[in-house]
Amino acid sequence: MSSNATLHASAAALYAQAGTEFSSLNWFEHLWVSWYLWLENPVIATGLMSFALHELVYFGRCVPWFIIDMMPYFRRWKLQPNKIPTKKEQWECTRLVLLTHFTIELPQIWAFHPLAEALGMQTWQVPFPSWQKMVPQIALFFVLEDAWHYVSHQALHYGPLYRNIHKLHHRYSAPFGLAAEFAHPLEILILGTGTVGGPLLYCYLTHDLHILTVYIWIFLRLHQAVDAHSGYDFPWSLHNFLPFWSGAEHHDFHHMAFTNNYSTSFRWLDFIFGTDDKYRAYKKRMAAGTAQGENRAALERRLLEETEREGQLAERAAEKGGLLSSKFKVT
Ligand SMILES: [Zn+2]
Ligand SMILES: [Zn+2]
Repeated sequence: MSSNATLHASAAALYAQAGTEFSSLNWFEHLWVSWYLWLENPVIATGLMSFALHELVYFGRCVPWFIIDMMPYFRRWKLQPNKIPTKKEQWECTRLVLLTHFTIELPQIWAFHPLAEALGMQTWQVPFPSWQKMVPQIALFFVLEDAWHYVSHQALHYGPLYRNIHKLHHRYSAPFGLAAEFAHPLEILILGTGTVGGPLLYCYLTHDLHILTVYIWIFLRLHQAVDAHSGYDFPWSLHNFLPFWSGAEHHDFHHMAFTNNYSTSFRWLDFIFGTDDKYRAYKKRMAAGTAQGENRAALERRLLEETEREGQLAERAAEKGGLLSSKFKVT
């Protein structure tokens, strides 16, 4: 059936035309079919489901971090321990995030269905693909998004782009979960392309992708983004088990130092291209200092202050200039 036809047909007609065998479906697939049959129009059904999923996952993932910020017990794992977000900062952040979700992201999410259908993505179709098919697809989307983000994030640190777009996201030098999507609409568009661009390109090339796989990918990507901005590094954080995983420990440094660590999920691109030199020097100084018996908390405070001071200088240079901030040398 042509993608144009699927956009105008009712869900019931689509299932009938596809000859869907309902008796062999599992409960989740039955639920999926019920949703599409209930709303009848697949564009509305997919649009609503996509937007609800995004809001629930994003704000749902922020709730534990919001609670953790209120509990002094967890301060021992805070990456910048003396910077606890105030209620005012959290409210200001929530307001802008909600505004951009409803004005910028909602139309984009809505437009996703026709575009995805046009490229051959399965939406209302059941049964779902096997997990053996989904896992490598999701792994590929992680790698593609990380590479896109690495390049475009560095571009956003270029003077004019920084001044007009990315500066907003750097409002908080000590980020918190909610700040993950605290960004200029154009930044949401540019960096969001990395999240949906991979699946769309894959779909265009293979015609073998179900939107459920995309939902699982976006679910994981939202967790990654919120957690990377949480400001906490626990002994059980993922990067302690997967050394190439970025996590908050990696991205927090980017907000504090204003330079280095441009990737999202993985550490390898920053490592290969040397854009983690200051981050590694910082870690080395911490390790050397504590090995020589220096007081860990005092050393950490001194290094954090130093790094933040340099970061502020680097930010000012980026705002004024046209050079990439990573090339800026603090004297
Ligand atoms: Zn940045
Ligand atoms: Zn950030």
